[in-house]
Amino acid sequence: MIYERSSALFAKAEQVIPGGVNSPVRAFKAVGGTPIFVKEAKGAYLYDEDGNTLIDYINSWGPMILGHAYEPVVNAVIDKARKGTSFGMPTEIETQIAELAVSMVPNIDKIRFVNSGTEACMSAVRLARGYTGKDKIIKFAGCYHGHSDSFLIQAGSGAVTFGSPNSPGVTEGTAKDTLLAKYNDIKNVEALIEANKGEIACIIIEPVAGNMGCIPPKNNFLQHLRDVCDANNILLIFDEVMTGFRLAKGGAQELYNVKADIVCFGKVIGGGLPVGAFAANNAIMNHLAPLGPVYQAGTLSGNPLAMAAGLAMLTELNNDKEIFNRLAEKTEYLHKGIAKVLANHNITHTINRVGSMISVHFDESEVVDFDTAANGNNEMFKTFFHGMLNNGIYIAPSAFETWFISDALSYDDLDNTIAACNAVFK
Ligand SMILES: *Cc1c(COP(=O)(O)O)cnc(C)c1O
Repeated sequence: MIYERSSALFAKAEQVIPGGVNSPVRAFKAVGGTPIFVKEAKGAYLYDEDGNTLIDYINSWGPMILGHAYEPVVNAVIDKARKGTSFGMPTEIETQIAELAVSMVPNIDKIRFVNSGTEACMSAVRLARGYTGKDKIIKFAGCYHGHSDSFLIQAGSGAVTFGSPNSPGVTEGTAKDTLLAKYNDIKNVEALIEANKGEIACIIIEPVAGNMGCIPPKNNFLQHLRDVCDANNILLIFDEVMTGFRLAKGGAQELYNVKADIVCFGKVIGGGLPVGAFAANNAIMNHLAPLGPVYQAGTLSGNPLAMAAGLAMLTELNNDKEIFNRLAEKTEYLHKGIAKVLANHNITHTINRVGSMISVHFDESEVVDFDTAANGNNEMFKTFFHGMLNNGIYIAPSAFETWFISDALSYDDLDNTIAACNAVFK
């Protein structure tokens, strides 16, 4: 395919926007070529500025779980917009979405809305520090929790793709309070806790990692974390920005039956508008201003358009009893189809999948943490990415990204995707 118009638009963008993009993962740095400019999207399809139709497996990096321009969400936003787009005063819809979220997610009493997943995780860690009176945090190599300073230490997909695992601009003082652990390695976590006795406020984790490809927790890893947190007076934060309202109504807490102390949300909870949130029980949440001493605020937090989109999205997910099974079945179908094609062509691969998250690794060993994820054959991934694109399939332009399955994908779309994969390696 020829992307003349996208290339021209990108050249213009580069003059006034650093790298031509407002978030680095959108650039095609890891795979080569120039980013595709999208004009509009509906359901499972992207329509680009060059007149191509693409089947979308990124879905805005997760939020569009029911497909693009989903009517109930679009209508809710339009109705709200006509009544004013921001007030900086309380509105009833904030309570409505909060009630619904609290009813869907286990172990939370209260939820605070912010404008991004980054803000949610940043605020959750501040709250954990304020609540416990301790400074240090543990994060896992390859996990991404947004771009606030404490988290830019081996931070997964975006940062890894661009070769800056530890970002300049993060002070040593901040970095020293972030301890780095290995995903799926409880012994490593226990050793860190032992070496920093009484100093650790919280452990933050993606309960299913999605920013180094999709990596499931193994051997009751989440329950073991719960146990070491309880034994050491440490709060366990589940960053469910990707997994929340995607793996189950109650996210990974429900799927794995493990309780987190604080849960972070983003992506699906905003229905495609800029929303994040963090939630916990009353004792923890009552530490937040204006009730408690931990400060957190936002001019546009709980914005009516964002709340309308989020409420419409959560309502659909809550009312459709089969949605999460249906998504998991579609994802399994795709997994099996692609695995068969790759095996037929003798392509070394590992495919990881949980619910509607899936990633294809060109690596024969099991992919269980950042090191094994980084082992994959990147040249093979580039061939795969551009080959799929030439066949009308849009996957993320980095080997470190998860694909997000939307319910708008039909089995014909999945069959076409599997056929495209076959065409790439034929
Ligand atoms: C996307 C993501 C974030 C950051 O959310 P933004 O809305 O991009 O700031 C945080 N944590 C996880 C697990 C994510 O996938």
